[in-house]
Amino acid sequence: MNAGSYGCECGAALHSVSVFSPALGHVTLGRERFRYGYRQFEVLDASGASLGGWFLVTSATFALARCDSAVVHAAMRGNYLKKKATQPVLAHSAGCVFRNPSAENPAGKLLDAAGLKGYRVGGMAFSQMHANFMINEGNGTAKEAFSLLQLARVAVNERFGVDLELEVKVWSWR
Ligand SMILES: Cc1cc2nc3c(=O)[nH]c(=O)nc-3n(C[C@H](O)[C@H](O)[C@H](O)COP(=O)(O)OP(=O)(O)OC[C@H]3O[C@@H](n4cnc5c(N)ncnc54)[C@H](O)[C@@H]3O)c2cc1C
Repeated sequence: MNAGSYGCECGAALHSVSVFSPALGHVTLGRERFRYGYRQFEVLDASGASLGGWFLVTSATFALARCDSAVVHAAMRGNYLKKKATQPVLAHSAGCVFRNPSAENPAGKLLDAAGLKGYRVGGMAFSQMHANFMINEGNGTAKEAFSLLQLARVAVNERFGVDLELEVKVWSWR
């Protein structure tokens, strides 16, 4: 899903990726054979079109810039402290639940403005610290999580006319 934060993203450092797919078999592909974007990663076929169907990543090689370890430590610490000050990083969550519709109107800002910061359904709640983090307070259920997500989508749509899309993936096996 090309995780990223504070202007950095995994895709930028990805050098090659080995995948298995029904169409390609098990192959190692260079940068010309994948495409990444905001919370998105696609494998391309030989013609450059997005590969349909599923694929499984079996390994990846990253090319990192060499840097002094003190500089790396300082950057890691700075980013962690920034996150810890603004996001409930130690709570039970899956990170941000909705994709940001735009840089000007991130999902957390819309949820907050719709009055959903701290709003709860049973044991599931939007964080008081950052409204786009849905927290399981210990005894939350999947049913409560989906109710809260649906309620939030309706509230943001009614208030701002924006359709929030999930960032987290939901798989149904029924
Ligand atoms: C507190 C917190 C803060 C977070 N902050 C950020 C942030 O700032 N920025 C950000 O981008 N993300 C953030 N996240 C989300 C985080 O990046 C993801 O939760 C994490 O990367 C998912 O990794 P995973 O290994 O658990 O993936 P999974 O949940 O296992 O998988 C994620 C997706 O990748 C697919 N997948 C998994 N393995 C493979 C494979 N081998 N081949 C093909 N597809 C596969 C899955 O099918 C699924 O669609 C945050 C999460 C938390 C808990």
